[in-house]
Order: sequence, then structure tokens, then C-alpha cells
Amino acid sequence: MSLTIAQNLQQATEKLKPSSDSARLDAEILLAHVLKKDRIYFLTWPEELVSQPYQAAYLELLERRAGGEPIAYITEVQAFWSLQLKVTPDTLIPRPDTEILVQEALNLLHEDMNYTIVDLGSGSGAITLAIAVERPHCHILGVDQSKQAVQVATENANQLALHNVTFQQGDWLSDVADSSLDMVVSNPPYVAENDPHMSEGDVRFEPTSALLAGPEGLAAYEKILPEAKRCLKQKAWLLLEHGYDQQNKLLELMQQHGFKETRGVRDYGGQTRVVIGRI
Ligand code: GLN
Repeated sequence: MSLTIAQNLQQATEKLKPSSDSARLDAEILLAHVLKKDRIYFLTWPEELVSQPYQAAYLELLERRAGGEPIAYITEVQAFWSLQLKVTPDTLIPRPDTEILVQEALNLLHEDMNYTIVDLGSGSGAITLAIAVERPHCHILGVDQSKQAVQVATENANQLALHNVTFQQGDWLSDVADSSLDMVVSNPPYVAENDPHMSEGDVRFEPTSALLAGPEGLAAYEKILPEAKRCLKQKAWLLLEHGYDQQNKLLELMQQHGFKETRGVRDYGGQTRVVIGRI
């Protein structure tokens, strides 16, 4: 028996309630994905019948969501900055928290300069691509250890027709020459290995290589700091995203590695989120 759009959404919302705080929204996004409509359509045509094949496809996606799979992995898209990005289970799902890192980077990048920038652990390419869109004269290299992530990021760059970015598989800055960069940005893995949050919500489905960084979550910074120091030009900037309780420790580490003018920044949710320094 076919159900209407309104009936589908109501049943789906009930089905998702036990596992999701945003059951109604999830139900709408997934139906929109199946029917290739936007959510406004449902307000206009609630009585329209959903035909069998679509209904079956919808049920399949609802099962996945009820099993905890993130919406972004089911639909393979996530909004970040002004961009719609492809994401897959090979990449972290870009977070709104990370937009502050992009904003702080842009504040330091004059619009008409041809800076060379590297984004370490570029994943789906979110940070690289957001900076590239806003600073067309800059060239940005995104480096990730995962070949699959590099492929997703490259697809995103092609989709956006951006020509001032390159994505490359690599081990942090090991392929980058000394004193060659105007800026290094990174949202590296920074979650502590035994963090209990790893068994809740979306992170259960995300690549652990993009999340976990040793017993205190600082392992990636230990690698990045000396390498960034080697590759940055005089007075050039390093910007790093970090966890909610890591800012003081990370500022200290930056100073120990010789970074100057170090300061911390909060994200739009009020959490300490980014550190900045220059060499
Ligand atoms: N902000 C992410 C989280 O809370 C972690 C991202 C990262 O490790 N870079 O799960």
C-alpha cells in the first residue's frame, strides 16, 4: 500500500526517534534525497503518494539511520562554509566548529597576494576548498595519508571547478621543501585514544585515523609542529584546530617549538577551538 508524503514522514519520524535527536529533520532529509526534491516540496504536496520503489528505497535508508549511520554518509553530502561537499566513510564529516579556522586563516590572508598554503589532513577537502574559494590568488595543497580521502577531495575540487588547489597523498609535510610556505592550517586527529565519546553518535562511523591521536590526543601536533617550523617562511603562520580542553597545552607546545605571537581563539559555540602562531 502506498503512503502519502505526510504519512511517510510521520512514520519515519517515529521510527527514528529512539536513535536520533533530530528525527523529523532526518526523515525529511532522507525522503528529499530519495525523491530528489527539496524539503519545501513536502510542505506544498503532503498528500502526494510515494510510489512503491521509492518507498522501498526510503525504508532502506531509514534502517541505516536507525542503526546510527550519520546522515552525511547516507546522502554523501555535507554543507561546509558556502560549499556542498561530497563525503564518504573515508573522510571525517566536516563540522561547523571548523569554520572558525577558515575565518581566522582568511583574516591573515590579504586578498590579492599569491600565498602558498598547505592544509594537513585535508579529508574531504573542506578547509582547503573554503580557503581556495575565498582567496583565488592563493595556491593551496591539501595533504592526507588516505588515498581514498584524496580522491574524494579531488572530486570536490573538480565539482567546484577550483584550479588553485592540489590534493596529494602524503605523510604530513615530508614532501614539502624547507621555508617554502606562507601558511600551514590543519584540523588533525586530536581525540584521546580512550575518550568515551568515541562510542557515541556519528564518530562511531568515522575513520579513526582522522580522530584518534595517542593517549592525550596530542600525537599529531608533536609531528606537525617541528615540520611546520621547517617548512614555513619567516613570519609565516600556523593555525591548528584542537579539542575543547587542549588549548593551553597546545599553546605551550607551540612556544616550546619556537612559535611567536601565539594566541587561542574560540569557535562560534564559545569553545576554545583554534591556536595561531608564527615562526
Ligand atoms: N571535532 C571532532 C569531534 O569532536 C574531532 C575532529 C578531530 O579529531 N580533528 O569528534
